[in-house]
Amino acid sequence: MILKTVCKSSMCAGCMACIDICPRGAISIEDSLKAYNAVIDADRCINCKACYHVCQENNPPPFSKPLYWKEGWAEKEEIRRKSSSGGFAAAIEKTFVRQGGIICSCIFINGNFEFIFAETEGEIEKFAGSKYVKSNPAGIYKKIKELLCENKKVLFVGLPCQAAALRNYVGEQKDLYLIDLICHGSPSPKILDLFLQDHGTSISKIAEIRFRVKNHFNLEAKQRAFTVPVIYDNYTMTFLEGISYTENCYSCKFARLERITDITLGDSWGSMLPEEEQRKGISLALCQTEKGWELLNESGLYLSNVDLMRSTACNSQLRHPSVKPRQRDSFFENLTKGKSFKTAVFKCFPKRYLKNMLKAFLYHIGMIRDDAGGGAKYTR
Ligand SMILES: Cc1cc2nc3c(=O)[nH]c(=O)nc-3n(C[C@H](O)[C@H](O)[C@H](O)COP(=O)(O)OP(=O)(O)OC[C@H]3O[C@@H](n4cnc5c(N)ncnc54)[C@H](O)[C@@H]3O)c2cc1C
Repeated sequence: MILKTVCKSSMCAGCMACIDICPRGAISIEDSLKAYNAVIDADRCINCKACYHVCQENNPPPFSKPLYWKEGWAEKEEIRRKSSSGGFAAAIEKTFVRQGGIICSCIFINGNFEFIFAETEGEIEKFAGSKYVKSNPAGIYKKIKELLCENKKVLFVGLPCQAAALRNYVGEQKDLYLIDLICHGSPSPKILDLFLQDHGTSISKIAEIRFRVKNHFNLEAKQRAFTVPVIYDNYTMTFLEGISYTENCYSCKFARLERITDITLGDSWGSMLPEEEQRKGISLALCQTEKGWELLNESGLYLSNVDLMRSTACNSQLRHPSVKPRQRDSFFENLTKGKSFKTAVFKCFPKRYLKNMLKAFLYHIGMIRDDAGGGAKYTR
């Protein structure tokens, strides 16, 4: 049978491995805002099925239970400060390059959330920060395979679906280290662009973007906030409410305690460590392999014991995928009809939207202070 899409309709995660593996350049990604589809051009397709087999949605790699679990932070204060959470990712990445390895992870550049390779500690700085949007790993699979063939050590840091796709693409390799993030779900970058249009700008015009400072979640472009600190901006609200993700995220196979990588990183929600440390960010690490555990221990991290039952209870993504909210269909219907982002949000959450407007007004006239906007974790 000739395939029309690489995986089931609307179940594409946008990992792009099928594009990298196709010998005929026959695959393209259709982004309808609400879902991605990897569409096959029947005229070019030779029916080799390489795309079908590399797809992590069709063939998730083997899952393993964590062997070790720890919470903590990067001992170097600067690394922790610049990171979204406790800085585990940057500290591990820096150690890995010091040992002669190469890192592949996500940066924001020229309006795109793309992947680059870093070989020095200076280059690692570009990776800092969680980008709450779908990133695009097109091209990295081939390149990583080449690097592994040259006996280079490679560490990939990305979303679970991307790490799974890489595992499928290159197979089990001793010199490949995989780190995935605990993931709540991710929207198409077009959603971010529609939000920015409400503010008279677009992704391509922005030089820097920040989605969060520690426990305060809100979007900021270079020297520009999109709301007052006491409320969430509309993009962050839709992200935290879980209405903006692409369709596949609600049945994500990787939102569970068993993982497909060497190390899984997330926030240590529910940590019993002092409040002061929580404000500075505390990471959670789950290690599924001995080589991951070794790397974690070499990375200049303060590591503390953590109760895995409690961490799992406080981080729903370790138990099940995000639950699709009932407002999601109306949100996308309004956006596809050409309504503005704020109108689509108002139609989904009218009471909350009006309450936020009131709070913003009270903030402007000095009647409430900067203490209510962030501080919340992922909600579903
Ligand atoms: C879409 C998304 C959803 C998340 N949901 C949860 C959740 O529900 N629960 C939870 O505990 N943690 C979640 N996280 C992870 C969390 O935001 C932190 O990234 C994590 O705690 C590690 O923090 P850190 O301080 O070590 O590193 P960070 O400073 O956060 O850096 C993390 C590393 O991940 C890479 N990265 C960042 N964004 C992306 C992206 N979009 N695609 C690929 N790579 C990326 C960076 O390049 C960097 O190498 C999510 C992250 C993302 C991107």
